[in-house]
Amino acid sequence: MNGVASVAPFIEYQTTFQNIEREIKVADYDYDLFVIGAGSGGVRAARTAAGLGVRVAVAEDRYFGGTCVNVGCVPKKLYVYASQFKDSFTASAGFGWKLGAQEFDWSKLVANKTKEIDRLQGVYDRLLQESGVTIINGRATIVDAHTVIVNDKKFTASRILVATGGWPFVPDIIGKEHAITSNEVFNLPALPKRLVIVGGGYIAVEFAGILNGLGVEVSVLERSAKVLNGFDEDIREFLIEEMTKKGVNFYFNTNVDRISKIEAGYIVHTAEGRDIETDLVMFATGRVPNTKGIGLEALGVELDRVGAVKVNDDYQTNVPSIYALGDVTNRVNLTPVATAEAMAFVKKLYANTVAKVDYDNIPTAVFSQPNIASVGLTEENARAKYDDIDIYKTVFRPLKNTLAGINERTMMKMIVVRSSDKVVGMHMVGPDAGEIIQGMAVAIRAGATKSVFDSTIGIHPTAAEEFVTMRKPV
Ligand code: NDP
Repeated sequence: MNGVASVAPFIEYQTTFQNIEREIKVADYDYDLFVIGAGSGGVRAARTAAGLGVRVAVAEDRYFGGTCVNVGCVPKKLYVYASQFKDSFTASAGFGWKLGAQEFDWSKLVANKTKEIDRLQGVYDRLLQESGVTIINGRATIVDAHTVIVNDKKFTASRILVATGGWPFVPDIIGKEHAITSNEVFNLPALPKRLVIVGGGYIAVEFAGILNGLGVEVSVLERSAKVLNGFDEDIREFLIEEMTKKGVNFYFNTNVDRISKIEAGYIVHTAEGRDIETDLVMFATGRVPNTKGIGLEALGVELDRVGAVKVNDDYQTNVPSIYALGDVTNRVNLTPVATAEAMAFVKKLYANTVAKVDYDNIPTAVFSQPNIASVGLTEENARAKYDDIDIYKTVFRPLKNTLAGINERTMMKMIVVRSSDKVVGMHMVGPDAGEIIQGMAVAIRAGATKSVFDSTIGIHPTAAEEFVTMRKPV
């Protein structure tokens, strides 16, 4: 959990902050820092700064923990676990188990998930309170460079941090009101028999896997030729093959024209002339920065063409007392990036330390089934950047799948610059890909060469050992 790590290492900066504070307190503000949004980035910034003696308030009008805790990473991963049991039950027979009839209770999963999320919200609330942060429940509007209004009450602050995250984007098509987004999918009153997911990004493939695993007939409609734009081409193709084997229907080069309501559900009409009948439609067509209605435009804070707050390397906007970080700036929209940005922001402003986030080689995982994880360059990007690329690749059936009678395969791929021997990209599709690539990311950031991987002894029998035993480029 990103949000619950210790602030202890930053206590050492406290004295430095107290010195800096004396210099920056040019006016008598209610707070030194007013944070808008208690998501991953906002909470981390608020409580870390408060731990240094900064007077911090945080305003939140929805839920503590933001998207990640409430309608993102955390409940998503719990649902991924839920959806994997069906395969495990089937696989267990090959290992000698004999199970009785299995039944899945969606409402129980939703209730248990909600209980866990409530607990985590409580943890966030407590962490903020214990750090001395003032929590203000309500929607904040910035009225001038140092003033925020929440529930008709004015608060002044030396600095204001906008950490309002993102919100699902739904294209403007006829019938879009019939569709849900990832905000609603977690709490559906009942599981549909059939689901159409529009989009082919992270959320689309993750939910296709979840709902397919829970017995829903899932169709994914993607406007381009493959899912997961930006990932390595081999990885994209391999995932499509494996998900298709599991029963997910893909429609590529397909654009939704309109959605119409019929008695028993909906029809998704595509621009290509196809009509797909379904019980539920979900849009997973990207997210937009949450910058509307918080007073940014009126104050002249510069936004880009998608509405993201423009910031410099220190997360400062063109209005010097206003800062922004995380998804609202639309750089790399991942929870650990937002928390890293929050730490860099606090260290720079309140601990007098230069702590820049390095946006290169950020590892990422997609909790599709099978999982994907990547760090570094794709083969395509590496070929564009270097003339001498070697590709190491392996495809195999994991040991567990032999007795399980499951034909799902794993793919692992490594991209090496021949002249320098540097490993510049690693990609995996298979069980626990995120767990494996996290360690590999450390090696890549440390500048590991292929020879270092070759001289590393494998852990046998694991899938991860393949990364240290690939000898021949393909
Ligand atoms: P993504 O940006 O990943 O994917 C958006 C998808 O929607 C793409 O397939 C895109 O197609 C398609 N699309 C975009 N606009 C339209 C349109 N107007 N009509 C039809 N299709 C459209 O967005 P997601 O919503 O899946 O996720 C949002 C972000 O949240 C991710 O990018 C990621 O940063 C984060 N996230 C991270 C997760 C993780 O770390 N595991 C999990 C979930 C989300 P095309 O490719 O052709 O452009």
